[in-house]
Formats: sequence, C-alpha cells, structure tokens
Amino acid sequence: VKELGKNHYRFYNTEMREALIKRSRLEEALRKALIHNELILQFQPQLDLRSGRIRGFEALIRWVHPEMGTISPNDFIPVAEESGVIVPIGEWVIRTACERNKSIQNIGYPQSIISVNISAIQLQRPDFAEMVIGILNETQLAPHDLELEITESILMESFQAAIGNLETLRDYGVLIALDDFGTGYSSLSYLKRLPIGALKIDKSFVQDITNESVEDSLVESIVSLVHRMGIQVIAEGVESQEQLDCLRAWGCEYAQGYLISKPLYELEIRQMAAEEDAA
Ligand code: C2E
Ligand code: CA
Ligand code: CA
Ligand code: CA
Repeated sequence: VKELGKNHYRFYNTEMREALIKRSRLEEALRKALIHNELILQFQPQLDLRSGRIRGFEALIRWVHPEMGTISPNDFIPVAEESGVIVPIGEWVIRTACERNKSIQNIGYPQSIISVNISAIQLQRPDFAEMVIGILNETQLAPHDLELEITESILMESFQAAIGNLETLRDYGVLIALDDFGTGYSSLSYLKRLPIGALKIDKSFVQDITNESVEDSLVESIVSLVHRMGIQVIAEGVESQEQLDCLRAWGCEYAQGYLISKPLYELEIRQMAAEEDAA
C-alpha cells in the first residue's frame, strides 16, 4: 500500500511539473504574441429585434500562433489572467476594437456599438477608467459607441475598485453590459448595485428554448424581471429561428448567435455592407 502510494505521488508530481512547464511556455508565448502581432479580433453582429437592423458587434479575440495554430480564448484567457498578461492584452483589445469600430461605422454601420469583453483583473486597476477614456479620445470614438462586457466574477474580488471604474465610465457615457447572466452568483440585489444598461442571457439558457419548453421558459421570466429593473436584454447563442421568434415575442431587445452570423473578420463585414447596399 505504501509502495503504491509513493508511486502514485511520484506520478502526480511528474504530471504537475509537465503541466507547469506547459503553462509557463504558454505564458511566455502569450507575452510575445502581442509584440509579434499574432492577436486578431473577430466581430460578431448583434441584431436589434425591434428594427431588424444591426445594433453593433462583439469583439472576440483570436490568437494565431505560427506553430500551434489558432488557439481559443477559452484556452489562453485564463492563463493571461493568472499571469497578469491580460492587462496589456486587454488594453490592446480595447484600443483595436475602438479603432475598428470607427472603420465599421464608416463602411456602412454608422450607429455601430462595439462590445468588448473585460476581465475582472483589468477592472480592479485604479487607472482603468482613465485608460479607457484616453483610448476614446485617441480614437475619436463616441463613448456611447463602446460597451464593456463584464461578468459577475468582478463581484467577488475588489468590488469597490471595480464599481468605481464602472461608475466613472458610465457617467462618461460608456455602455456596460453584464455577460453570461445566469451562470454565476447572480442575485438580484447585486444587479441593482451594478451600473449596467444591458444584460446578456447566457447561451445555455437560450439553447434550452425548444418547442417543448416554450411554455414555461425561464428566459421569459428573466426578460420580464430584468425589464422591470430598467435593464435591456441581449440573448446570446441564438441558433434557431424558433429561439429568435420566442425572444422577439417576449420583448428581448437584441440577439446574437450563429443563426444571425458567426464572428466575422472586418473584410467580411465590408462585404456584408456592400451586399446590403446592392440589395
Ligand atoms: P463570451 O463572451 O460568452 O463570447 C461568446 C462566445 O460564444 C464566443 O466564443 C462566440 O464565438 C460563441 N458563440 C457565438 N454565437 C454562438 C452560438 O450561436 N452558439 C454557440 N455555441 N456559441 C456561440 P469565443 O469567441 O470562443 O470566446 C470564448 C470566450 O472567451 C468569450 O465568451 C469570452 O469570455 C472570452 N473572450 C473572447 N475575447 C475576449 C477578450 O478580448 N477579452 C477577454 N477578457 N475575454 C475574451
Ligand atoms: Ca461576451
Ligand atoms: Ca457570454
Ligand atoms: Ca464567457
């Protein structure tokens, strides 16, 4: 038994060491990614269900590594957060998203809002709001054409610093949305304390909307409850026409998902704008 235990220990140790080496390599590569221009943004359209027009786009980061290929943000954002590299990467994302939105507005979507995902780590920094305002001035993007997507994880750590940054930015005119609603520690009292104008219902709830579940859907209740608090609703992960029809009937303002469009490169948005012009 002792022998087995010892072997087991050793095995575990080796695995851990390998995981650590892998992680520090990834961390190292991630630091270089920014300098080597390996990071790019895609943009996923958000549909305004009332007007049928595009409200704007969510910026989604991709890492194209010369050897490892394209790496999903789900795999590298956690490493970036733990190592702190998320701070310079996050700043790059905000600046690039603002610049690209200016050009998206010029090619045919003059009202386009750009939504940017923000990590809790970024929001805790005392100079975050100042940095964002600086980028808005630099890029000449109107504050109400930028939306920050935050998650409930900001409620866990450094709540005060994060709220201070968000209130400063909200007062400046920047839009704030709560992402992944329903997956975290959401409580309604928290919702009231956050300076948010919109809430994104997580795709796991949206994808639960099927023929059989329509009648007593949780999403319908969330929409009406959130509206009573004066907050707008964006549904994410919309994949079927039926989901879209239900959401529209329930008064959900905006929808995003593969049914409407996958995330696009700026060139594809240009083509889309040209096609709409021709039609
Ligand atoms: P998220 O913010 O919840 O983004 C939505 C994710 O759902 C995106 O995955 C998007 O491509 C995917 N998606 C869109 N429509 C559909 C659909 O109809 N069905 C399904 N199943 N999925 C859909 P992606 O691009 O892989 O991003 C994953 C996560 O990585 C994001 O989740 C976000 O948490 C994080 N992320 C992405 N870009 C950034 C960034 O610039 N900064 C930070 N901090 N996080 C980012
Ligand atoms: Ca998001
Ligand atoms: Ca989300
Ligand atoms: Ca997420």
